[in-house]
Amino acid sequence: MADYLKFWFAKFIVEHGIELLFITICLGIIAVLSAQKWLRQARCKHGGRLYETQACEAICQQCGKNLGFIGALKRTESGDDK
Ligand SMILES: [Zn+2]
Repeated sequence: MADYLKFWFAKFIVEHGIELLFITICLGIIAVLSAQKWLRQARCKHGGRLYETQACEAICQQCGKNLGFIGALKRTESGDDK
């Protein structure tokens, strides 16, 4: 039974090896890119310039992180928030 399964597994790998390799590489690239983005956002102090979206959300220009509603952010910066 085990040999039977091994045979089908080997057959699957041989037939779909390139596809599996391609998917693995794609997932690897996505993982590296998201890890880099996450690291950049984690290290960024978001103290630089902000970009405001049409939904009034503040996006940090240095790391691209969405910092939430820009009105709330500006209140916090000016010290009006009690
Ligand atoms: Zn930032």
